[in-house]
Amino acid sequence: MTRKLFVTTALPYANAAFHIGHMMEYIQADIWVRFQRMQADGGKQREVHFVCADDTHGTPIMIAAEKEGITPQEFVAKIAAGRQQYLDGFHIAFDNWYSTDSPENVELSQGIYRKLRDAGLIVTKTVDRFFDPVKGMFLADRNIKGECPKCGAKDQYGDNCEVCGAAYQPTELVNPFSVFTGSTPILKPSEQYFFALSDPRCYTFLKEWLNTPGRLQSEMVNKVSEWLGEAGEKLADWDISRDAPYFGIPIPDAPGKFFYVWLDAPVGYLASLKNYCSKNGMDFDALLNDPATEQVHFIGKDIVSFHLLFWPAMLNFAQHPIIDKLKVNVHGHLTVNNEKMSKSRGTGISPLRYLDLKMNPEWLRYYIAFKLNAKVEDLDFNGEDFVARVNSDLIGKYVNIASRCAGFIAKKFDGKLAATLSPQAQQWISRALTNDGAERQASIAHHFEHREFGKALREIMEIADITNQYVDENKPWILAKDDSKIAELHDVCTAALILFRQLTILLSPVLPQVAARVSEFLNDDSISWADTTGDAVYRTMLGRTIGAYSHLMTRVDAKMVDALFDRPAAPAIAAPAAAPAAALAPAAPAVRDPGVEELAPEIKIDDFTKVDLRIAKIVNCEHVDGSDKLLRLTLDVGEGRLRNVFSGIKSAYKPEELVGKLTVMVANLAPRKMKFGVSEGMVLCASGDDEKVNPGLYLLEPWPGAQPGMRIS
Ligand SMILES: [Zn+2]
Repeated sequence: MTRKLFVTTALPYANAAFHIGHMMEYIQADIWVRFQRMQADGGKQREVHFVCADDTHGTPIMIAAEKEGITPQEFVAKIAAGRQQYLDGFHIAFDNWYSTDSPENVELSQGIYRKLRDAGLIVTKTVDRFFDPVKGMFLADRNIKGECPKCGAKDQYGDNCEVCGAAYQPTELVNPFSVFTGSTPILKPSEQYFFALSDPRCYTFLKEWLNTPGRLQSEMVNKVSEWLGEAGEKLADWDISRDAPYFGIPIPDAPGKFFYVWLDAPVGYLASLKNYCSKNGMDFDALLNDPATEQVHFIGKDIVSFHLLFWPAMLNFAQHPIIDKLKVNVHGHLTVNNEKMSKSRGTGISPLRYLDLKMNPEWLRYYIAFKLNAKVEDLDFNGEDFVARVNSDLIGKYVNIASRCAGFIAKKFDGKLAATLSPQAQQWISRALTNDGAERQASIAHHFEHREFGKALREIMEIADITNQYVDENKPWILAKDDSKIAELHDVCTAALILFRQLTILLSPVLPQVAARVSEFLNDDSISWADTTGDAVYRTMLGRTIGAYSHLMTRVDAKMVDALFDRPAAPAIAAPAAAPAAALAPAAPAVRDPGVEELAPEIKIDDFTKVDLRIAKIVNCEHVDGSDKLLRLTLDVGEGRLRNVFSGIKSAYKPEELVGKLTVMVANLAPRKMKFGVSEGMVLCASGDDEKVNPGLYLLEPWPGAQPGMRIS
């Protein structure tokens, strides 16, 4: 039976750009997917479908959209439009990227709900819900913070503790407060819909489901078993409804009630697959019902309760075919220099900054893979370790083999590899590719399959070590000086390049771009796992004419890693002070502060009023593909439409620093067609006359209270 894999990562919440933690999860899943795509069962390639979606519903997005004066749909679309640059940048190859705010998800979520209701597992109760007396609305779980009732951690949301992973009701929080007003919420009665997780059927099912071998990591089985209690007595009914106003999916036959975002979010996996199937002429139901199909989730440890209690129980009692095929792989968090990432503390690594610095995405893919195992352990990004690991393994061991041998093949043998190999060369190849008589590729495949990426890479590096030892002992650079050793030179370089190709195939799930370049260099369009076993190791290589070698990868420069953590320099205090001094004292002797530009010729007030300056809100800001200088700003000037403005401020600001800020723009400037699109105005920046004296650009920002569209006069 050929395996059919339906692979997903957690759906990112569509209220912000990706952070480095998202990239880690996607890289992990992408490596696994690429490995699976190379595998065959009984001669037939595995079928792999890798999908994701934006998780769009819930109060935080509703509130964020409201603040920007746009609809939640517009807000989500804007976030979604920014996703691809990250995915492309790190070679993450989802087959489909979709949205939980989609017709498929409405249909599937409501369908699951109806089946749960038919099974007698939906109950209603009048419960006291938190209400913000100042704002006058019911508070969603994420609008309430307080101390975790399980572990006491401070500043936790109302549904789930990010420190210990516990799920609870917001009313269980200790010392709760409204995130909008800081007021202490009051309790108000409201009729709510619950999924009856306390029903004994749920315990019976979950107990068995959790303990099915191969489904979950053992630490997760233990953890979730604790949550179940001895006989399910710890399972509480799960509140799945939220009161209007709410951005979400309406609950059938319940006016004014919506599904809590965590009910429809995991259904989004299925919605994305369904959308993908319909776009590709595949039968969604047939795929879900196929006994060869497996669903593999990659998720972080912070969202375990949703995926290992509610989600399987929902699927099971909705009689959904995917329930028997579900496997969940939980990973730990990414820490940076052993600190939990935090935007406010500035210890996070921005994925876009990484790409902007022209750092090779495959360095990060390799480093993350090297540190990953199948356990639920945190993974630490350490700058020095990153530099050392990448330079030692990828440059010193792997790329080095080709750079030491390929030149001789080109120069001395017209690019042609030897047609046969000496017994000694064959012995070395066998020594490199086997361990105790067993082919290493089999144990490497086993490690990839079981997500022990670190073990797989260590074993691959052992092959590289033996190959380098072979080259060191045979010294092709010495053989090349002696015409009588020409056959030996050919033999050694051919054997080394055969091993280099093996390393490339084995590394290709981690380094897809390097693998593509090697395949070009070796004139080899089948970087295929099938070529890592038996005679296939040699078959296509002997006598082959290869292309010219060009350098495959550079070393990591430690300065780049420093720059990755650097915060943008704070504006120098002297620079802004100099400008008003000059402006206020035009009659003063002409001794200007260095770097302060001379005044322009005098104008009349009429000249000034021709320029229509307005307060603009930066509702979005992004990098411009192919431009080192420009940022693309989306500005709201209160006209009921948004303006597109390009501004040369990329050196001074990161897009995420500007979103949501107010600034000043020239609103009546004729639109200007640029290489990247039409610019409809100009934002105002302060800058010095001489960059060397007063470096930097400073975007103008009005005092609080100014509103988009106000005229400046
Ligand atoms: Zn906790």
